[in-house]
Amino acid sequence: MNNKQLDSRLEQVRMQYNLYKKRPFDINMSRGIPSRKQLELSSALLNKLELPDWMSEDEQDIRNYGGLLGIREARKLFGDILKTSIDETLVGGNSSLQLMYAVLVMHMFTGDNKWNKETVVKFLCPSPGYDRHWAMLERLGIEMIPVELTGEGPDMELVEKIVSQDSSIKGIFCIPTYSNPTGETYSDEVVERLAQMHTAAEDFLIMWDNAYAVHHLNNEHEEAQSILEACKKAGVPNRPYMFVSTSKITFPGAGVAAVGASEKNILRLAEELSTQIISFDKLNQKRHVLFLKDSNTIQALMEQHAKILKPKFDWIQSIFKAYFTEDREKFISWTNPNGGYFVHLTTMDGCAAEIVDRMGEIGIQLTPANATYPYGINPLDNSIRLAPSFIELDKLEVALEALCTCIELVTLEKYGENFIGGE
Ligand code: PMP
Repeated sequence: MNNKQLDSRLEQVRMQYNLYKKRPFDINMSRGIPSRKQLELSSALLNKLELPDWMSEDEQDIRNYGGLLGIREARKLFGDILKTSIDETLVGGNSSLQLMYAVLVMHMFTGDNKWNKETVVKFLCPSPGYDRHWAMLERLGIEMIPVELTGEGPDMELVEKIVSQDSSIKGIFCIPTYSNPTGETYSDEVVERLAQMHTAAEDFLIMWDNAYAVHHLNNEHEEAQSILEACKKAGVPNRPYMFVSTSKITFPGAGVAAVGASEKNILRLAEELSTQIISFDKLNQKRHVLFLKDSNTIQALMEQHAKILKPKFDWIQSIFKAYFTEDREKFISWTNPNGGYFVHLTTMDGCAAEIVDRMGEIGIQLTPANATYPYGINPLDNSIRLAPSFIELDKLEVALEALCTCIELVTLEKYGENFIGGE
């Protein structure tokens, strides 16, 4: 590009942007939630539940109080996903986040080694990550230390170094399979190193949020190894808590969540939960067991989800590939995940927040830029998360076209001169 070409390109994109501004959209792509079509895949769950005697396999009347560990058949089903035994599995209510928070509160405020005896408590935060994890830590006054993700989990050199030196670092949050938002899956080596690393804190925790454990988009299935198995082998069985839920398998507001951990940790958590709740919804647990049945049935259901989701992910790839060619190639890089709910964009430094703002001004809401970093602070200001699941393909198409325009506009306004001359 020469000066003149840059000016005319900028004028063109500005004109296009102003057209969008005159007739703003009303599109929300900010959260990764299933579309109505996906919710309909689980309609059968809403059928009337009729059981001859309302008893679970372990002789609990599922209509009554009790059974805080979950009904046996649900513990078995979720154990299949978590790769845990029944005794290593607790099945709760609809939210895995709530169970994560319960685990953090338990360690913060109870037990001989409760963290709040210390002046500072810190956690490692592989970033970009999930903003609700960071919100949880911030709420509890836990200091967050960002650690870079490498494409196959966190930078283990750095993790090993800092956890071995600082006993106030009490844990790490991980999304091991199809991580939110980068889509990466932890390699076997990363899983083993997390289990084997020496930690200055004796009671170091791995919060293993496997929210996307079975959420494949392609035939190429990725699956992180079990951190519990690795930790058992390394002699630290109480280090990890693993979480899953059916929020993106059946219904986000009315699904079932579960924890996998050592038997000791499961019993300790059940005791902690007993001060918060008398029993979870066992009718819903039973309904889910009858509907989801086993791993094969879950897999078949996830294939139906993928049929709805994949065209949206493919669309992102083809629009970006077509748009960001030649001298636009450097404006952005993006992920092409095999599963999960997100595509992550890395903009040129200092552009992400403005791109998201510009999108907001024309009526398209994206997740706030850099929200995927602890405290929402990313010094590079280069991270945008796209959540294409909820909106229909036609809306996604216009939103992506507008996004391309905003990326080009902001990048050229900031860096246009760098592209003059070219090769
Ligand atoms: N963890 C991650 C990584 C998620 O992306 C989400 C949903 N967006 C959740 C947890 C929420 O889980 P739940 O509905 O079970 O609380």
